[in-house]
Parts: sequence; C-alpha cells; structure tokens
Amino acid sequence: MQIVSTIKEVRTQVKEWKKQGLTIGFVPTMGYLHEGHASLMHRAKKECDKVVASIFVNPMQFGVNEDLDSYPRDLQADAKLCESIGVDLIFHPEVEEMYEQGFCSFVDMNGLTKELCGKSRPIHFRGVCTVVSKLFNIVTPDKAFFGQKDAQQLAVIRRMVKDLNMDIEIVGCPIIREEDGLAKSSRNTYLNEEERKAALILSQTICLGERLVRDGVRDAKALVDAMKENIAREPLAKIDYVEVVSMDTIEKIELLEGAVLVAMAVYIGKTRLIDNFIVELVNL
Ligand code: AMP
Repeated sequence: MQIVSTIKEVRTQVKEWKKQGLTIGFVPTMGYLHEGHASLMHRAKKECDKVVASIFVNPMQFGVNEDLDSYPRDLQADAKLCESIGVDLIFHPEVEEMYEQGFCSFVDMNGLTKELCGKSRPIHFRGVCTVVSKLFNIVTPDKAFFGQKDAQQLAVIRRMVKDLNMDIEIVGCPIIREEDGLAKSSRNTYLNEEERKAALILSQTICLGERLVRDGVRDAKALVDAMKENIAREPLAKIDYVEVVSMDTIEKIELLEGAVLVAMAVYIGKTRLIDNFIVELVNL
C-alpha cells in the first residue's frame, strides 16, 4: 500500500492503473478510521480493482467554533487498518497541498442544505462540496463510497454529481453501529464514560422512531414530538434538531410518504452526534 501526500503522486498512479484498464474505487474520509469507514473500503474493494482512500481533515467544512483543532488524528493506526483491508493507496495531503495560496473557487449548493446540519452548520456543505469535487478531480474514480451515517451529505453529493455531470457512481453504504447501538463515529472518542452511556439515547430514539413508523405513524410532527420527548429524558442530551425530510430534496415534509429521512443531531455534553433512519413508504 502506498501513502502519498501530493496530488501529482495520486495522478501518476491513477493514470498508470487506468492505462491497465483497472477501475478505481474512492473512499474520502477525515481519518481516525473505524469499522464504519472500513465497511466503505470493503465495499470498494469488492466493486473495484483498485481502492484509493483519502485522509484529510478539511478546514473548509468546519465553522469557527467547531472542533477542527481537536479533531482526532492517527495516521499510523489508519494506515494499518487500510492495509489490512487491501486499500491500494492513501492520499494524505497537507492543507497547503489542497488549498494553495490564493485559493478562491468553491462548489456550493442552493438546495438540500437549508435543513438539518445545513441549518446549524451554515458553511459546512460548501466546504464538503468543494473538497469532494477537488478530490474527485484528483482521483478521477469510477465509483465513490459514502456512508448513510451522513445522510444529508450523501444526498448532497448525489445531487452535485448529477448537477455537474460528474462521471462517477455514488454508492451509499449502511450505518455501522457499536454493539450497543451507538453509530460509530470518530467523534465518539470525545465522550467520557458517563457521556458514552448517555449517547445511547440517539440510537434508542432511532429505534423508537422506526417502531412508531412501523406502527403506522405518518404525521411528521407527531413522530418528531415523540422522538424529542424521548431524548429529553436524558439529562446530558441537548437537541440540535430532529427533523423529517424528503430523502431526495432534504425539504421538510408534514406527511410521511415516499423516501423519507428521519434525522437528528444531539449534543451529549459538548459533543455533537448525528443519527438517522430512512423509510420507503407507500401510502394507500
Ligand atoms: P468522516 O471521516 O467522518 O468524514 O467519514 C467518512 C465517510 O465514512 C463518510 O462517507 C461517512 O458517512 C462514513 N461513515 C462514518 N461513520 C460511519 C458509520 N458509522 N457507518 C457507515 N459509514 C460511516
């Protein structure tokens, strides 16, 4: 497995692979890898000849009061995990390699970013779209793999690829959870013992929401209220949002029908965690 830090090295290797007629799968990450990331890499390995993973904590997608500086990093452990999966190349650039002096071009989106994380993190998706576009231009993959854990991000990337005619297949992969239900996240490392227990309120509330929908609840407000009420039982939890939106447009809906995303962001102490579930509903 190669670990490279320059755009030129990625391009040289990818060109060589393409000359041999090999397909490229790409998994963009911010590192501090866990089984959630690993599941994307395994899927990429299964569907493509060569797998490129990027590890880059992208400053552009962090707001001023967010956790850019404290975001966990461990390149050595990440490399070990990637190697064990059979990743062929890790791209691990410095900030200066990605954003040269004078950088002033951005990829932004008008729709899909008004609700959910876009509301509480107003510059986040501009940063995500810009860095993912750049990475797509550098790696030129056939397929790119994203987790449903970040469901809004997945919808945004799908839309961007469609709108900008990027010739890349976007593959969405299911949420990987800890045994007790907590969605795996690099940010879980911020939680102390007490907070780690309290964080279970997210996955428990997801289960509650899924059960209510199974039992026939179709009114978005009733669903959101029940989920919020459940979260309020946990004293360490502070709700950022619980929302029901259309999966494709990420716009709020009142009645659950079609492909629906039920998503939440909750602070456990100072740590902001997200979780969600998707339902396909045919209302008769
Ligand atoms: P991040 O390093 O947090 O930017 O995540 C990189 C990719 O891994 C994104 O596509 C995430 O959606 C995905 N990912 C993160 N956590 C999980 C998880 N628990 N299950 C599945 N995919 C995940």
